[in-house]
Amino acid sequence: MPRYDYDLITIGAGSGGVRASRLAGSYGARVAVIEEIREGGTCVLRGCVPKKLLVYGSHVGEELADAEGYGWTIGPATHDWAAMIAAKNRELDRLHGIYVSLLENAGVHRYRGRGVVRDAHTVEVGDRVLTGERILIAVGGWPSLPRVPGIELALTSNEALELPVRPERIVIVGSGYIAVEFASIFRGFGSEVDLVFRAERPLRGFDEDVRVMLGDELAKKGIRLHPGLLPAEIGQDGSGVRTRLTSGQTLHADAIMYATGRLPNTRGLGLSEAGVALTTKGAVQVDGWSRSSVPSIHAIGDVTDRLNLTPVAIAEGRAFAETVYNSNPMTADHEDVPSAVFSQPPVASVGLAEHDARERYGEVDVYVAGFRPMKYTLTRNQERGMQKLIVDRASQRVVGAHMVGVDAAEIIQGIAIAVRMKATKADFDATVGVHPTAAEEFVTMRDRRPDPVRQVAAAQ
Ligand code: NDP
Repeated sequence: MPRYDYDLITIGAGSGGVRASRLAGSYGARVAVIEEIREGGTCVLRGCVPKKLLVYGSHVGEELADAEGYGWTIGPATHDWAAMIAAKNRELDRLHGIYVSLLENAGVHRYRGRGVVRDAHTVEVGDRVLTGERILIAVGGWPSLPRVPGIELALTSNEALELPVRPERIVIVGSGYIAVEFASIFRGFGSEVDLVFRAERPLRGFDEDVRVMLGDELAKKGIRLHPGLLPAEIGQDGSGVRTRLTSGQTLHADAIMYATGRLPNTRGLGLSEAGVALTTKGAVQVDGWSRSSVPSIHAIGDVTDRLNLTPVAIAEGRAFAETVYNSNPMTADHEDVPSAVFSQPPVASVGLAEHDARERYGEVDVYVAGFRPMKYTLTRNQERGMQKLIVDRASQRVVGAHMVGVDAAEIIQGIAIAVRMKATKADFDATVGVHPTAAEEFVTMRDRRPDPVRQVAAAQ
């Protein structure tokens, strides 16, 4: 008789939990997965996937307008929001089905409900008690809303992806990934968008040139930016909402959405009681092997608040399963992870922002190229793009690559391989460009930006 019901009990069937569980199952482990909502998790059901589908949908409006520049005459276009949401939901149902079959084909048992950890080897789900040699916490995160009077009227990205009707006017609070992506989506479909954020520029933490450029481009698309402000009070306004800002100005809209960060989903999970150390934000503290302070309890993905990106959670899940169930010790590498913000225009980067590179390497060479995408030259579209390389002066290694503009995410994926392989600026320069593309700018940047310090010295 085995000592435990399962070798592994995973709580949370998102990207990380599913990858770890099905790999463990395929290596012969007896695995149970507990999921409260639906298999698939944030990325597949409430994040990356539905968001990207809406990004595609919203961009069509601009493409129809651009078509005129190429000689097309297109009659008045209308958009059926409800039809799009229904089509998106059908696709999510399909993906959910795939996740379920991936688990079942690996022999994983599925349990529906909220798993609560009772001790180092016991999990409760509803009125069932399961025991496992190991427990994997993969419960992800959940939108976090600040305390503001009237906050209960606010939507989060969860509801924004499910709206039966598109709001004609929407206030979006925050200027991180989710805020700028949804601002672009709603604007693309024709909504009036007010973006309210406490920083001076969107995308705190990103390279400053990227932040400036994205702010300008969002404004050019007609998004009204309200930097340095916060909602002081939100109230009902007929069928809509009224938002009083800290400046005293009041915005009237059909909806208000908050995208003010996400917190690890550990509340009520029984982790502290079981002796698992959590950070002040409630994240599970783990070592490089995703081990918590309790030897039999591991954690991967957003619940650990390391790098909150789906492919990272998947890498962590794989590393856990390979190490524990396939005698193939492996850790997830969190260096030089590329990422993208699917705003319009999109942003993508790999490696360090200029300010971080200066801190780490001291002297850096900076190359920046602004461009007007060729596809817009015959159109009235005023969108511009920008590429930037940051090079460690001593080693000449490219330590950061950033792009704002058409296809940025697609382009940075390839650049990320070069950055990870520690390519130098000379390697980039020796690579022949693909012509005519926006990507070729990355291998044709010749003019180094003058050093900021030298600029000051020259001005004196
Ligand atoms: P982010 O951490 O990116 O941004 C949070 C935003 O909310 C910032 O603008 C922040 O302001 C603001 N904020 C935080 N607290 C408050 C507050 N109390 N009052 C007002 N504003 C506040 O979070 P998101 O919610 O946008 O995204 C969550 C995570 O999801 C990201 O970290 C990312 O890893 C992941 N994600 C990734 C995507 C991708 O890869 N494309 C897409 C979407 C999400 P300030 O800048 O001043 O700190």
